[in-house]
Amino acid sequence: MKTFSDLGISGSFIDALNELNIKKPTEIQLKAIPFLMETGTDFIGQAQTGTGKTAAFGLPILHAMNPEVHIPQALILSPTRELCQQIARQLFKFTRFWNQKVFVEAVYGGAKIDEQIKNLRRPTHVVVATPGRLIDLLERKAINLSAIKIVVLDEADEMLSMGFRKELDTILDITKDKSNTWLFSATIPGEIQSIIENYMAPDAMRVQVNQFDVINRDIEHKFVVCKKEEKPGMLFHFLKSQGKNRGLIFCRTKLDAKNLAQELIAGNYNSEALHGDLLQKERDKVMRAFKNKKLQILVATDLAARGLDVEELAYVVHYHLPEKTEYYTHRSGRTARAGRKGFSISIVSQDERSELRSIERELGITIKEVR
Ligand code: AMP
Repeated sequence: MKTFSDLGISGSFIDALNELNIKKPTEIQLKAIPFLMETGTDFIGQAQTGTGKTAAFGLPILHAMNPEVHIPQALILSPTRELCQQIARQLFKFTRFWNQKVFVEAVYGGAKIDEQIKNLRRPTHVVVATPGRLIDLLERKAINLSAIKIVVLDEADEMLSMGFRKELDTILDITKDKSNTWLFSATIPGEIQSIIENYMAPDAMRVQVNQFDVINRDIEHKFVVCKKEEKPGMLFHFLKSQGKNRGLIFCRTKLDAKNLAQELIAGNYNSEALHGDLLQKERDKVMRAFKNKKLQILVATDLAARGLDVEELAYVVHYHLPEKTEYYTHRSGRTARAGRKGFSISIVSQDERSELRSIERELGITIKEVR
């Protein structure tokens, strides 16, 4: 069994990984790290969130940084503010025992650009950015991409579905000749294929990992069946059984999330909704309250909860089944973090049962009925 040290990762990073309870490389890490550390030419990794891909590209990036050069040498593009912050946070944690001064800066929309401009004037080695904000910064000449040697497109499919194609083209036109491009995506639809053809080497290394081989396997999946109109009652009954435990409830639409949070608040639960209609400031406030444990229950839509990294959640409730099967994995992965056991429960009406069956089939999991 290969260790991180076998993959070429140096001692101080291994100490940091140990502290994060990251001991055994995952499939994408085994396949990507040796290549990215050695040759590091263009790379296409088909892997989704939860497979450990951040470390798979993050560790080779940190190894490749020259601390003496004070302008950005690596650029990581990611679809949302939360993901940018999360990636930057992970990289920062990896450097904890390193004696080099390497700095990671996250820049994203919905936050004050002046502050980000100021921060970028400090020595910065790795920039994690949303494509739109990076373009803004480029137009203001607040960022220098002349020393970028690695560009990562993280969750490339999500960036495209959020409408960032034009921005990606502009950025890749600047970087393609002097940088290696490492693309990570859960799926490779036509538009990604065209990015690969336009901007990446024809002999780019390609790696695919089992889509559902996510790290958090220690999740118990359950479901209850009731009539549609009985769902609120069923949810209250479940929440009562959970006492002071903290958890996340998923709804399909913004309106559903808003209404359900209202119902919970009316039922004296310490709850808030997180959805796309909130201003960035409000979203941050809700996220912060939830992370700081001031909020017990968060009701969210799939998009709003992307990248939400919270610890010690006892349960995840699927109040509505997700639109896409992979969302079920994303949702459930919010519990059972860092080696803890988690619990994922779907509250379904009769007509949702077949959907639940297909989730089971596609993900190769068993969802047990609670009677
Ligand atoms: P990612 O797919 O990069 O979003 O990673 C998902 C989570 O898995 C993060 O919280 C990582 O800290 C954690 N993680 C990454 N690599 C490993 C590993 N080899 N073993 C256990 N956990 C890991």
